[in-house]
Amino acid sequence: MSEMKHNWTKEEILEIYNKPLMELLYEAATIHRKHHDPNVVQVSTLLSIKTGGCPEDCGYCPQAARYHTDIEGNDLMSVQQVKAQALRAKASGSSRVCMGAAWRNVKDGPEFDQVLEMVRTINKLDMEVCCTLGMLTENQAQRLAEAGLYAYNHNLDTSEEYYKEVISTRGFEDRLQTIDNVRKTNVTVCSGGIIGMGEKEEDRAGMLVALSTLNPQPESVPINALVAVDGTPMEDEEPVEIWDMVRMVATTRIVMPETQVRLSAGRTQMTREGQAMCFFAGANSIFAGDKLLTTPNPDVNEDMDMFKALGLQPQKPFLKNVHPPTVEAKDSKFEALGEKPKWSRPEHKIERNEAAKTKAKALK
Ligand code: SF4
Repeated sequence: MSEMKHNWTKEEILEIYNKPLMELLYEAATIHRKHHDPNVVQVSTLLSIKTGGCPEDCGYCPQAARYHTDIEGNDLMSVQQVKAQALRAKASGSSRVCMGAAWRNVKDGPEFDQVLEMVRTINKLDMEVCCTLGMLTENQAQRLAEAGLYAYNHNLDTSEEYYKEVISTRGFEDRLQTIDNVRKTNVTVCSGGIIGMGEKEEDRAGMLVALSTLNPQPESVPINALVAVDGTPMEDEEPVEIWDMVRMVATTRIVMPETQVRLSAGRTQMTREGQAMCFFAGANSIFAGDKLLTTPNPDVNEDMDMFKALGLQPQKPFLKNVHPPTVEAKDSKFEALGEKPKWSRPEHKIERNEAAKTKAKALK
């Protein structure tokens, strides 16, 4: 079987996912060693540069304004605040800073200009810069690339079929369009999803079909385990079993051999042994820092203790792709076009999202 395959089917992926665990682990670890140093794990720090108040209705997300959760929102951080946090992240071993803003899509204007300045500032610290800002146009992707952005994160979340059970305010095709817009630049693509949202194994496989058939495949694929937050439509979902996480990581590694597979949300629910099994199965990236946007994450020192116990080394920046140059705002070739693209708004009814919204209204 060719390893760089771009026509994976759901049936083939399900067959891999359901192999006896020892066989699955062995196959994934063998592929992992051919393409990566198994003792090196990339460490990213996720910064929520604008928290809460999001107009979208993602059923897993405590930042959606329509649900009632405990998170404290904040306006867009300043460039100086972001620089200080990036320096702290660098000092504790992170090679990448990922900045997340709770926006539906990027809008040209002073806030986006401020984000571009953050990208320039962090890139000049010799750190990889990633952004996750919602849907964006090709022109906006070009402007981010010019500022020195290394990666853009835009998760598919789940299969196209199950997507309709999670989000009603945008369509799966918008996600693919944004990824396509990023692909027209030199910025690398980070796209993955979440397990434990009530989806079937077929949906997990369906998401991996959608990701692995992209050509090129995403350079980074985060695999999240749902953190069920009170007040969100998914508050009652059971925690993901470690075996499901290991299977998902191993299958991702097999179908996308060169990708960095990231163990993302849900690590606080996993033991060190469980995480070690995920690294063996091909995970080679983690998020560090005690918060992942708004949900808990292991403390940096705990992670460094785990690295020591497992003999893992943090990955150096720009190991897989070149360090993009930064073009200053005054020298930019791309001006803001002020486009207003028509991203979809299906607005179909998702029962549990509606129930969470009604509950939130009653609490206000
Ligand atoms: S996941 Fe992103 S787009 Fe969806 S509600 Fe949360 S912040 Fe908004």
